[in-house]
Amino acid sequence: MLSGLIAGHLQKRWAQDEPSDKCFDHDDLTMARLLAFIDGSANDPDKREVRTHLLQCPRCRFIFAKMRAVTVDNPRGSGSPIGGCPRRH
Ligand SMILES: [Zn+2]
Repeated sequence: MLSGLIAGHLQKRWAQDEPSDKCFDHDDLTMARLLAFIDGSANDPDKREVRTHLLQCPRCRFIFAKMRAVTVDNPRGSGSPIGGCPRRH
């Protein structure tokens, strides 16, 4: 897929750089902020900061897309295995 190639290219570009102190893979705190942003529980200043950083940083746009895909596929609180069918008896 073309989008996969682009993502791979982007990843190669930023993978050589160190994350800035605002990057979501910089530490657990910024990652927690991103996760809160995705599930809608972040407060307004944090939301603004995440959004601003996403606009500036291809690395974090990539991380954001990945994390959102994981979160959407596997919502919090459902104990079911990924890809498993709901069992009804
Ligand atoms: Zn970043």
